[in-house]
Amino acid sequence: MKSDAEIRSIVRAMTLEERIALCSGKSFWETKAFPKYGIPSLFMSDGSHGLRKQEREGGADMLGVNESNPATCFPAEVTTSGSWDPELLEKIGDAIAEEAMSQHVGMVLGPGENIKRNPLCGRNFEYFSEDPYLAGKLAAGYIRGMEKRGVSTSLKHFAANSQEYMRFSSDSVMDERTLREIYLRGFEIAVKEGKPSTVMCAYPKLNGTHCSDNRKLLTDILRKDWGFDGMVVTDWGAMNDRIKGFQAGCDLNMPGGSDYMEKECLAAVKDGRLSEEDINRSAERVLRVVFRAAETLGTATAATPDMTNRHHELARLAAEEGAVLLKNENYILPLDRDEHIAIIGYMAKNMHFQGAGSSHIHATLTDEPFPHFPGTCAYAEGYDENGEASKEQIAEAVRTAEMCDKAVIFAGLPTSYDSEGFDRSDMRLPDGENKLISAVAAANPDTVVVLFSGSAVEIPWADAVKAILYMGLPGQAGGSAAVRLLYGDANPSGKLAESWPVRYEDCVSSPWYGKDKDAVYREGIYVGYRYYDKAETTVRFPFGYGLSYTDFSYSDIKRDGMDISFTIENTGERDGAEIAELYIGQTGTGLYRPIRELKHFQRVLLRAGEKKTVHFVLEMRGFAIWQDGWTVPEGEYEISVGPSSRELPLKTRMQIRAEGTYADGGVRIAREEKQSERDGAPAAGWYRTCRGIPTLADFETMSGIHYEPVHLSKGSYTMDSTVSEMKKDSLVMKIMYKAVENTVAKGFGGKKDYSNPEFRMLMASSAGSPLRSMQISGGIRGGIMQGLLEMANGHGLKGIMTMIRGK
Ligand code: BGC
Repeated sequence: MKSDAEIRSIVRAMTLEERIALCSGKSFWETKAFPKYGIPSLFMSDGSHGLRKQEREGGADMLGVNESNPATCFPAEVTTSGSWDPELLEKIGDAIAEEAMSQHVGMVLGPGENIKRNPLCGRNFEYFSEDPYLAGKLAAGYIRGMEKRGVSTSLKHFAANSQEYMRFSSDSVMDERTLREIYLRGFEIAVKEGKPSTVMCAYPKLNGTHCSDNRKLLTDILRKDWGFDGMVVTDWGAMNDRIKGFQAGCDLNMPGGSDYMEKECLAAVKDGRLSEEDINRSAERVLRVVFRAAETLGTATAATPDMTNRHHELARLAAEEGAVLLKNENYILPLDRDEHIAIIGYMAKNMHFQGAGSSHIHATLTDEPFPHFPGTCAYAEGYDENGEASKEQIAEAVRTAEMCDKAVIFAGLPTSYDSEGFDRSDMRLPDGENKLISAVAAANPDTVVVLFSGSAVEIPWADAVKAILYMGLPGQAGGSAAVRLLYGDANPSGKLAESWPVRYEDCVSSPWYGKDKDAVYREGIYVGYRYYDKAETTVRFPFGYGLSYTDFSYSDIKRDGMDISFTIENTGERDGAEIAELYIGQTGTGLYRPIRELKHFQRVLLRAGEKKTVHFVLEMRGFAIWQDGWTVPEGEYEISVGPSSRELPLKTRMQIRAEGTYADGGVRIAREEKQSERDGAPAAGWYRTCRGIPTLADFETMSGIHYEPVHLSKGSYTMDSTVSEMKKDSLVMKIMYKAVENTVAKGFGGKKDYSNPEFRMLMASSAGSPLRSMQISGGIRGGIMQGLLEMANGHGLKGIMTMIRGK
């Protein structure tokens, strides 16, 4: 491993052009090598729930459309988060690192850490939770596992990238408190506790500034406040302005193809707009990751069948740990192998086990549910790959269910619904599946549903079925995991890492989420259970909820200063694991706050009849809110413990006074009178009660932000504008849009099918991405894009000249 001094002297020996060039990719997945300085190139691949290594020349893409090498497809974060087990994530991180090493990959692009703000986000399956504490702890586990082997992780997408709609060009607008408490908190935990080597900046703007150019985000918060000393890499094509990027602390511009930005930087250094120091710092950070990878991979060995088998087993274990038993009336589960079971559903043989997009893994094998059932079970397909069910299919499923003791339906979202690049348009399962489930449940009262989806779905038939087992997206071993859980070979222990509203409309952001180009975070800190609890909204299943085949009882809470202890007993007849959750809420505060927030959790294994004492040490930070710094308002707090956010049998209270001795970790305690609205706390209105919906005016009063949507038109377009937005008043962009549409349509038999999610995803990622990203990702050289931009702005001749001159 090269020392910092050695790296510094290599950077000093390089020319300015070389240093700038080092800070942008050579190709889709590689950095540039400089053999004369002994600098190799670094190969990176997508994660997070497996390795997506693409090595075929010309076959690289960021949407998982082209082939990649076979790798273990672990359960996606939607499932692993159900385990609430950072150690499990550590094992997965370790296993993926082992595969990365065997394929000569030095850096894996993951884990995803964004907050599940709304159930429809297309990439929710790649993210851990609606709660930043849980998300941060799980991400930290994954990072530790991978980094321990010397493979670099890239914590993404930093920050506030909680929707796919317009992700390349939208602005995430939010107040500082929401940003710090919700959208940055998970990153903070993951950075401090996991210590990733790299962080990936997100596509959207944050309060008007692109994440790639955002010094406050990339330097003031990430490096100065949190102590991150690694490299920041852009999301693919996210670099807005390379000069501002260097100044902000954005080190590596990916993928390759950004020569024009390099030229601009060179000119900026020459005329004094950009300091060489900024470039040197970034070059050093890039080299640290590059040399570390070279050292790690120097000892790497090839994959063996043993590794493939071990990792498949780990994938199964993870799917079992993360699955959540949502309902089990009359203890209908576990099943008995002597029972005659009707297995129903296309997904029994073709489970939906991972989402689409850049995280899509070419699995080493697919272990479907059906072959794991006893041979005596009956089968009916019930519906097709799109979730459509014909009358005949439903009738056949009903007949099969009637003949059997119990019916198990495998259902869920069709594979294309959980995808990067676009958000779901509603929270429903396909009508065909809903009809099928209702009909089967009417025919056989002992009906069980096994569900596959990347995020919460509406389940109108919930009361009609006896049991529901939620598998999320369980990865390649999901089939055997599901069947082992159904028969009780494994005891379910997962808990939901996101609330399940009854209907989409119950979600506070539903009226504005994904509707406008910019994402205005009107609901502020009230995401998931923070909102449902405050608004007293009935949910289908609350955050932190999940059942087991055994029972647990909680007792004996004690507090000694900041130490909390309590007892959990397994009162049932089976061994099992329980996840204990601790929440803190302030009672009678003058400030608006959620009723309670998750501050600690622990997964506890208990044999039948066993009792264990659980200890947590509270941290001052757990009581704090953001008010120009982490501040604990004086007053009384309730600490509650239990099996879910809505079932908290143990409670204790504590007072925090300014005179107290608790201040730690840079947190200050503030007297109540300092917390009043007079002293600068924003007027709260809706935020005190969560009744009705917050208007834009409520948001503006609370945040102090005056939000004006940007309306661009001919003359004001920039390299940040997209073909889709410019086509309204530019003929050349209309033509370009058509050309892109025709090219994309070729992959769909010539059909411009906007009802096809994959078609929409490809259009959004091409015509919907800024010209600068198209230029970088498409490897388009010279002045073509700048020329087209001139034309879109009404300067036809200048455009042609720009293209000819090539700048
Ligand atoms: C995604 C990233 C991914 C990158 C490379 C981007 O479009 O947002 O998560 O790592 O592509 O495939």
